[in-house]
Amino acid sequence: MTIKPLLIKFKQNFRWFRVPLKQYKPDGTTFKDITRQTILDEDLPGLNFSPRYFEIKAGGYSSLEKHQHVHVVFVLRGKGRVLLGAEVKEVAPFDCLYIPPDTWHQFQPLGKKTLGLLCFVDKDRDRPQLPSADDLEELRQNEAVEKFIKA
Ligand code: MN
Repeated sequence: MTIKPLLIKFKQNFRWFRVPLKQYKPDGTTFKDITRQTILDEDLPGLNFSPRYFEIKAGGYSSLEKHQHVHVVFVLRGKGRVLLGAEVKEVAPFDCLYIPPDTWHQFQPLGKKTLGLLCFVDKDRDRPQLPSADDLEELRQNEAVEKFIKA
């Protein structure tokens, strides 16, 4: 079987040709003002990871979550802050983050610009886990984290 190579051309405004703009997650209330583009179809032959591009508008945020799969994230536009385990860090283009298994994380734009993130995950991955009341209480022990998190 011959597998066709692909070139996904960049259009403009952080859109790629033939890549639909989707909701971040199908449903839920644990996030705000965030979109997803799955740059490559996850069912492509031999592809065992997935590159996704997320944008979070000013005032928005991704879910506060953790899971067993890892994230590799590159910041492509804007500035942001991210909860990385027990710390809040600032990020800017073209910073690269490794988020290990079982690590709480949440992204938020900093300032008025949209935050754009290219995020790689395993194709086969576990579902994100949201914080329980006990988890939140533990996270909130750290003042910087307490001020930062939205859940
Ligand atoms: Mn995640």
